Amino acid sequence: ETAPAFLSVWDMHSYYGESYIVQGISFNVHEGEILALLGRNGAGKTTTLRSIARLDDPQVNKGEIWLDHQPLHRMKSHQASVAGLGLVPEDRRIIPGLTVEENLQLAQITPPIGWSLERLYDLFPRLGERRKQEGVTLSGGEQQMLAIARALARDIKVLLLDEPYEGLAPVIVDEIEKTLRLIKEQGMTTILVEQNAVRALQLADRAVILDTGSIVFDGSAAEVLENEGLRAEYLAI
Ligand code: ATP
Repeated sequence: ETAPAFLSVWDMHSYYGESYIVQGISFNVHEGEILALLGRNGAGKTTTLRSIARLDDPQVNKGEIWLDHQPLHRMKSHQASVAGLGLVPEDRRIIPGLTVEENLQLAQITPPIGWSLERLYDLFPRLGERRKQEGVTLSGGEQQMLAIARALARDIKVLLLDEPYEGLAPVIVDEIEKTLRLIKEQGMTTILVEQNAVRALQLADRAVILDTGSIVFDGSAAEVLENEGLRAEYLAI
């Protein structure tokens, strides 16, 4: 038998009130890989990320979520966060009134500290140049970089990215993509939710495709890129 996956979601069912959204999904994420979680608008991608991160909404009524032998399904969001989960939400949540550096330092308070400021500025030179600037005055792309850097500052085991490319110019997307590759080279495990499926598939090792809360594909990213039928039916690309 092979060892259990690094992150494992087993028969997860999630609801917003009475609305049954994630309808019993199971998938694995292996250590060090980038998994693209794809599907049309409303397929349940964000709901899946929020469920794994144990946010109050949605409610996960059934299922198990394991991260590196830790039962996330028994945890609240702050415990899941300490267990090594780093969710970067779509709205980024940069803290107003704090500089770039203060946003990062605040994330580093819980010991043991994650990536050092030096290592983060190495990875995101733009953030180093702007360390004294108030975080919320950064451009959209720079705020996305800060949101990712802040997650890494917390010493996480898995990075969950919700539409990191949204609203950004192609050159900025290139830059973030390059950084995500460097983060992977340093051993990080990532789940990437993206509307920009082609770009996500070019970066990812594997892909899981959702359709109305169920998994319709789980395999290599290259396989999705090569399969026109699959792309047309579930990704509209
Ligand atoms: P998108 O790319 O549009 O964000 P998605 O795949 O991430 O799509 P979700 O945001 O997970 O989809 O939404 C899945 C379904 O859950 C949708 O039908 C949406 O209307 C519903 N939903 C999302 N948030 C809530 C909420 N807070 N309360 C009730 N229903 C919700």
